[in-house]
Amino acid sequence: MVTTADQNLVRKFNTAVVLNILRHHAPLSRAELASNSGLNRSTISAIINVLLEDKLVQETILQSDRIGRPGMLLELNPSGGFAVGIEIGVDFISMVVTDFVANVLWRQRVNFNPSEEQETFFERAYAMTERALGEGYSRGLRPLGIGLGVPGLIDLRLGELKFAPNLGWENIPLRQLWTDRFHLPVFVDNEAKAAALGEYYFGAARGLSNFIFLNAGVGLGSGIMIDGKLFRGSHGYASEVGHMIMNPQGELCGCGKRGCWETQVGPRAVIRRFRETLRQGVPSTVLHAADNDLDNITFETVANAALQGDAAALAAMQEVGGQLGFGIANLINIFNPQMVVLGGELNYASKILLPVVEQVITNNAMRLESQDLKIVASMHGRDACVMGAAALVLDDILHEPGFTNNNSKGEYYV
Ligand SMILES: [Zn+2]
Repeated sequence: MVTTADQNLVRKFNTAVVLNILRHHAPLSRAELASNSGLNRSTISAIINVLLEDKLVQETILQSDRIGRPGMLLELNPSGGFAVGIEIGVDFISMVVTDFVANVLWRQRVNFNPSEEQETFFERAYAMTERALGEGYSRGLRPLGIGLGVPGLIDLRLGELKFAPNLGWENIPLRQLWTDRFHLPVFVDNEAKAAALGEYYFGAARGLSNFIFLNAGVGLGSGIMIDGKLFRGSHGYASEVGHMIMNPQGELCGCGKRGCWETQVGPRAVIRRFRETLRQGVPSTVLHAADNDLDNITFETVANAALQGDAAALAAMQEVGGQLGFGIANLINIFNPQMVVLGGELNYASKILLPVVEQVITNNAMRLESQDLKIVASMHGRDACVMGAAALVLDDILHEPGFTNNNSKGEYYV
């Protein structure tokens, strides 16, 4: 016997299918939607009527069908609502407001001192969220939800940050905190996994079902897409590739172990290598610009100098590019992806890093594994994670559509 619950589930599933086809292939006519989805015309019409009423879909160009009747094409409606994406970094908070098709309407990035009180940090993050929501409302849009990307291990069921090695935080009920304040759907995920989702929906890996996203900031996170799904492991903590131990005698890592991959390839590693290179007497213009004080040197300074051909900076970047390449070659041998996307701070110097990484991969990954592989920089640069946080909200709607006109989650009756 087919129950009402079964029917609702089927309607939800069919609606998600229609939304996802439109996301990839719009504009489409109702007839094309029917043939693409395998659903019959009357089901498509019923779904589209509800989506039009809910403003998630809009009619666009008028076209004539094959027998000359006028018909409208359909596409996702950018004004379907707005999402707030929040990235909590180790020393910054970044936010975006996007419309329903991920156009950025507003963005803000604020640095903070990681040694500052957790309470102060949260008050600032809440104030920024308030501002972001105001920006969305001021454009006459309804809020679809808030997505949070965090550099740590997340309990997805609870929306709780279990452990963030580089922040030194443990057991923070992020979803609860944001829901209590803002009374909207809140989605929490690891920053790099969120960013992988962002690349999948509206970035460099759009539509690819097997790819690896690497995010290098203070730490090195990843999102691994396997057959169109993010790989999460048994407890949801999978793909911590930054903590692969590459050298047991190496630098101490934020996780407490030594020689993790992230100690070799992040911006901190670039600065460390650069200092070592200077000590070896390689000349550089950077030291003068930093008033001869090694402590004033930032990753951006070194990356910029390398881009301008500074010998010491270039040597440091190439060394780090090599280490990055070895780790990626290992990942390619394990996962055989179609693409590897580099995001975060390293993206900044991708012009120098990519050729080095590609060379190391050619020399070290198995030939058949790396066939037709593309290594690219993230389309969103250092905004990859914050865009991914917004993608968490859009992903939920595209997979679990269920709006009513009063903004609360309900069921579709189609
Ligand atoms: Zn580690």
